[in-house]
Amino acid sequence: MATIQLRTSIPGPRSQELMRRRHAAVVQGAFHATPVFVAKAEGAVIEDVDGNRMIDFAGGIGCLNTGHRAPAVVEAVRRQLDRFLHTSFNVLPYEGYVRLAERLNELTPGGFPKKTLLVNSGAEAVENAIKIARCYTKRPAILAFEDAFHGRTYMAMAVTSKTHPYKAGFEPFPGDVYRVPFAYCFRCSYSLQYPSCEIYCAHHIEDAFKRVVAAESVAAVIVEPIMGEGGFITPPPEFFPILTDICRRHGILLIADEVQTGFGRTGEMFACERLGLVPDLLVTAKSLSGGLPLAAVTGRAEIMDAPGVGAVGGTFGGNPVACEAALAVLDTIEKERLCDRANALGERFRVRAKGWQQRWELVGEVRGLGAMLALELVRSRQTREPADEETKQVAQYCYEHGLVTITAGSYGNVIRLLVPLVITDAQMDEGLDVLESALESACASKKEVAAQQV
Ligand code: PMP
Repeated sequence: MATIQLRTSIPGPRSQELMRRRHAAVVQGAFHATPVFVAKAEGAVIEDVDGNRMIDFAGGIGCLNTGHRAPAVVEAVRRQLDRFLHTSFNVLPYEGYVRLAERLNELTPGGFPKKTLLVNSGAEAVENAIKIARCYTKRPAILAFEDAFHGRTYMAMAVTSKTHPYKAGFEPFPGDVYRVPFAYCFRCSYSLQYPSCEIYCAHHIEDAFKRVVAAESVAAVIVEPIMGEGGFITPPPEFFPILTDICRRHGILLIADEVQTGFGRTGEMFACERLGLVPDLLVTAKSLSGGLPLAAVTGRAEIMDAPGVGAVGGTFGGNPVACEAALAVLDTIEKERLCDRANALGERFRVRAKGWQQRWELVGEVRGLGAMLALELVRSRQTREPADEETKQVAQYCYEHGLVTITAGSYGNVIRLLVPLVITDAQMDEGLDVLESALESACASKKEVAAQQV
């Protein structure tokens, strides 16, 4: 039996009524991709307030690698609810925080001694990683990349690239942030082609040290191993070894932001492992805690201990319920072999998506690692003009037909998949069928418009 079961058109009447109240009561800035109010969810399936069953390809923006209400996570949360909800680690510490720090120190790349700080959100973890890097190196500058996204607090915005809707109107940003192009081969900032470019973008960072900011002023480079909001931009394998070499030679720390790529998404526990990157500091959040707010900075012990007692942390950082959820998430990823599952799901997608690319000019590029998957949509293969309107149409068609997707990209022309890794093959195929029809429909309406213009 099909998983998607639609009783009403989407959004249904109850969702529409709630949306009216939402618009009256909630700020417009708190964006939502799908005008559907959720009633309950399990695994990769969502039931809305009108009784419609939908398949979830968004996973709460990559927070649900272990799925909605993963049984072990729910059980761990229940157990903790019966003990205590909050003391603040700054007042009365508890074992869950320490156990999670030990697990993260062990799991993250790099065989050196590590320590961990827990906070509440990805942006907060980014803020803290930068505070710690500056405190340790006693250098001011941070190097970030074009198309990066690191969050919506001020320092996180400063290192984020995309102007609308994230930065415009919120200026000025904290200073001493410098930006260089990433290895976005599909839209190379230097108009070069891989592999004949010989990874010019990575080598050219040396040039920035002459023309933009002195290397000895740079505390850290912050980078997403695969750009998330930027459009799942996956660098070639040579990129990170070159970047690492440059950083090491100049005493610059490497901060990897694995908020979106972490915890099995790319077919390894961390994308760094797939891309040959051993960062000094690693930022995690999202799928760390299976749906509860929690984030971490994990890194070399001597760097992490640079700030003095009381200089980092906060009232709710490392909430005990979230810590127990995270420990259950890590167990689940290992027990259910979700890294292998990510690779299998990726293969399943790639086979279908390559067919779409052959069939439709709209599908400009199919990319990603493991189950971090994306389609970049273009109006023409030759000009690579971003098909942002068509991308919106595809996402709308999907939710109207029972599939929740989200978009990405500096030009808003990327469909990204962050499916819960516990999705069944049948659900995955059913979701891909909807996505295929959505692409077909967008291509057909494009042809209609072209015909009318002739
Ligand atoms: N870094 C990356 C790579 C992200 O994808 C995000 C969220 N999309 C953040 C940081 C910010 O995380 P949060 O929304 O939890 O603040």
